Amino acid sequence: MQALKGIAASNGIAIGKLKLCVKLDDKIAKKPITDVEAEIKRVESAKEEAEAALNRIYLDALKRVGEENSMIFQIHIMMLQDDDFFDAIKDCISDEKVNAEYAVWQAAQQFSTMFAQMDDEYMRARSADVVDISKRLLSCLDPNLDSGLDSLKEEAIVAASDLMPSETVQMDKSKVLAFVTEQGSKSSHSAILARTMSIPAVVGLCDAFSSLKDGAMTIVDGSAGDVIIEPDEATLKEYEQKRDAFLQHQKDLQLLKGTKAVTKSGVEMEINANIGHPSDVEMVLENDADGIGLFRSEFLYMESDDFPTEEQQFEAYKTVLEGMKGKRVIIRTLDLGADKQVPYLNIPKEENPAMGYRAIRISLDRKELFVTQLRALVRASAFGKLAIMFPMITSVEQVKEIKELLNQVKADLKAEGVAFAPDFEIGIMIETPASVILSDLLAKEVDFFSVGTNDLTQYTLAVDRMNPQISSMYDPRHPAVLRMIQMAAENAKKAGIWIGICGESAGDTELTRFYVDIGINELSVTPGTVLELRRTVQQLD
Ligand code: PEP
Ligand code: MG
Repeated sequence: MQALKGIAASNGIAIGKLKLCVKLDDKIAKKPITDVEAEIKRVESAKEEAEAALNRIYLDALKRVGEENSMIFQIHIMMLQDDDFFDAIKDCISDEKVNAEYAVWQAAQQFSTMFAQMDDEYMRARSADVVDISKRLLSCLDPNLDSGLDSLKEEAIVAASDLMPSETVQMDKSKVLAFVTEQGSKSSHSAILARTMSIPAVVGLCDAFSSLKDGAMTIVDGSAGDVIIEPDEATLKEYEQKRDAFLQHQKDLQLLKGTKAVTKSGVEMEINANIGHPSDVEMVLENDADGIGLFRSEFLYMESDDFPTEEQQFEAYKTVLEGMKGKRVIIRTLDLGADKQVPYLNIPKEENPAMGYRAIRISLDRKELFVTQLRALVRASAFGKLAIMFPMITSVEQVKEIKELLNQVKADLKAEGVAFAPDFEIGIMIETPASVILSDLLAKEVDFFSVGTNDLTQYTLAVDRMNPQISSMYDPRHPAVLRMIQMAAENAKKAGIWIGICGESAGDTELTRFYVDIGINELSVTPGTVLELRRTVQQLD
């Protein structure tokens, strides 16, 4: 038995077998070969096998999801048949006298970079497809060569050096008992996703990560940050009891459904839920949230091989608004960049991505993307109670520019005869020190503020929210951060607008009294935290 300590990132206890997912880069070795012909033959038969597999997948998808959605597999088959790609692999084998696996991976890197640099948006999106078909070829060459993430066959505790949000969203959630990662922190987006999905998680294991064993019986205590490898009988029993107690506590909280979050002295707090995908609405309703305080729309972009169209976005927003049946849904415009990357956006490598090209900076720079999203949002406003929120605001001018664009979108839609709600609210995220300092002026421009404590903590304290080495300094309870929130709350009150908190520390029950005292009107948390927080508010005097 071995006990490891990491960062508690998502509550709950999981007991099961560990699946160690290793990055392909680390698995593919460069090996010298002597028989070039034999190596090329290996690639050719892997290609045939991959093609046959793709044909089967295509026919199956055709039955299940229709022609349009199955097209991608036809594209993959065509790419697999591309002579240039295969010539690059063969040349690498014969020129460098190296193994087929290494040659395939080299060609994959070369072609995906080439596609990523093209001007045409459609061709740029093919960059991810080259990697995809190369992974398929590799697993045909050697069945051990998959990252493990794509092929969870049974329930498992997933361990990976780092889980990119795009990988996390694409996983088969029904099979993931818990997450364990070497990198990451409590407010990294994979941790947030784990909490949204109510999957226990321990992140930032750092050096201890190397002790994990593939296939070993493992306990993950996401509430305490503990990972126990091959537990003895007594420990296993202890954690089975802890797990049962946790589940019982969750059950007890169910009794609070249908009640309001009102303190003993009569102050009411709106408690909303944060989501990243339309399918999360189910969990929001299950946990009886008052509404949705943050829909991170960027996850729609991360699940897709290319920019989602106006129609695709409209459908997603409409589904959420209709699903919430008149309860308010705050949809945040795209907040890509930093740790939320999509290959087709083609952001060049940045020295300091958290302070770089992200969120509203992208939207105001690439207006065609922003207008597409605004059109989808405004159209969806006809189907429920929408509010739109803008991330990473640092100036009044930005807000004025956004409002002009929004008015233009409304005018265009009106001219086209498209129905939309005339008076939905607009708000901004307060997540940069600049927005706090300017909050008296910003409050005159919008209907509400929502404090993003994840970024506000990182920018106020100059502590990278992703870096496990300094995670002890990342403190959302730091007096400097609390003063920032208080200042924004005072300015919101003076201007007569409401203020909420949608960063992770909205769910920190140690801070609930402070939030009530400074006049916060709304807290938005992961769906699984709504009832716990409601209980905390109800117990406040
Ligand atoms: C925040 O920064 O607190 C926030 C809610 O936004 P995100 O975590 O998506 O950056
Ligand atoms: Mg943020």
